[in-house]
Amino acid sequence: MGKASKDKRDIYYRKAKEEGWRARSAFKLLQIDEEFNIFQGVKRVVDLCAAPGSWSQVLSRKLYAPAKMSPDHRDGDLPLIVAIDLQPMAPIDGVIQVQGDITNARTAEVVIKHFDGCKADLVVCDGAPDVTGLHDMDEFVQSQLILALKLFFSHVTFAKPKSSRNSSIEAFAVCENYSPPEGFNERDLYHLLEKVGSPSGADNLDCHSGWLEGPNKVYIPFLACGDLSGYDSDRSYPLPSSAEGGRYQSLDPVQPPIAPPYKTALELKKASSRGILEMDKLSLNS
Ligand code: SAM
Repeated sequence: MGKASKDKRDIYYRKAKEEGWRARSAFKLLQIDEEFNIFQGVKRVVDLCAAPGSWSQVLSRKLYAPAKMSPDHRDGDLPLIVAIDLQPMAPIDGVIQVQGDITNARTAEVVIKHFDGCKADLVVCDGAPDVTGLHDMDEFVQSQLILALKLFFSHVTFAKPKSSRNSSIEAFAVCENYSPPEGFNERDLYHLLEKVGSPSGADNLDCHSGWLEGPNKVYIPFLACGDLSGYDSDRSYPLPSSAEGGRYQSLDPVQPPIAPPYKTALELKKASSRGILEMDKLSLNS
């Protein structure tokens, strides 16, 4: 699909370039905030799975920039934004980057250090558990995730921002009011999740009343968010200048990924098509 054609078919892709966002996903976070007001009073925030960085840009523009512009601000009072990804990303004003694996305890320790031992007010994450294609297994992993969320937060809602296509099953879990079970020890998280995953294990847990009683079902509200009369991500829109009879100029992406994982694959493909068999000469880390 050409750039202009994509601009026509995906209004949020076009708007992202016009407004300087690195990815259209920026609108998803903005629309979730419109509904849930997630940025209010936030001083410390973590962006998990952050590259190429459009959510971090939203955090920077919504939290860091207004605080920085305030005439009586002190540098020590500015909001702290920590962004984590396996991939490096181009710098963003007010965002501390950590290149690492979000599932690694050492990565969490780095974040805790940045926050001087204080807890985060907000954690955003645009990653999802990998799907295997084995449906029973995928369903089990997803159910485990939902149970784990209900265990730690009193309010859990699934949100479908207007910018997320209806044709995609993507939705975001918005978890509010962190209130872990009494006596919960963060270091024992793994053991706790194993218990929740087993049919009898949950009986031993003192968690939010009633959520596993009765037919053992958990119903999570599902909410559409963003201006419902706003742009529809599944519709094509005419390009601005072509509607007025002029020539449309498609914009380049705001920030191409600086070290995309597909770069090595492309290099290998190029090399093999030239008949070069010495693949080991290519650095897998480039
Ligand atoms: N929110 C981002 C934005 O708005 O630009 C887009 C995130 S993209 C959909 C998912 C990201 O998750 C990828 O950059 C990938 O490298 C990262 N990722 C996947 N697994 C990860 C892990 N275990 N630790 C850190 N990052 C991970």
